Amino acid sequence: MKKYLVAEISKFNKDRIKLKRALYGMQMEDLILHSINAYEGKVEQTTCPHCHEECIVTTKPPFEQTVEVAGKQIEIVVTNYPRNKCNTCGGEFEILGVAGLLDEILVEEVVSSVRSRKPIPNEIDFNELIQLKI
Ligand SMILES: [Zn+2]
Repeated sequence: MKKYLVAEISKFNKDRIKLKRALYGMQMEDLILHSINAYEGKVEQTTCPHCHEECIVTTKPPFEQTVEVAGKQIEIVVTNYPRNKCNTCGGEFEILGVAGLLDEILVEEVVSSVRSRKPIPNEIDFNELIQLKI
């Protein structure tokens, strides 16, 4: 099922997007998908809410997430999942807004595996999980 994703873009940028599309002979959707896959941002470092020390952004150790699908608890290890960690108290903090979306996507992955009669993955690489399908 295809759905619209709407973004407000200035005329200046819109004209340049059209130019780039024409230059490479790409559909708008493909240009957007390629651009998002190529983008690598920086994860914001936070302060520990307990000891107020600066956290460090880390992907270690692998993150263990339990998702619920059809009343069953399924454990999935997520590698390369960035989150903030406090070196003083050891507290780990997921990035606001990311945890819920990760859970949602992991549930979709489990459902998709079940539907295509593939084994449910017990380990998923976050870097692969955020790649769009082109
Ligand atoms: Zn702390």
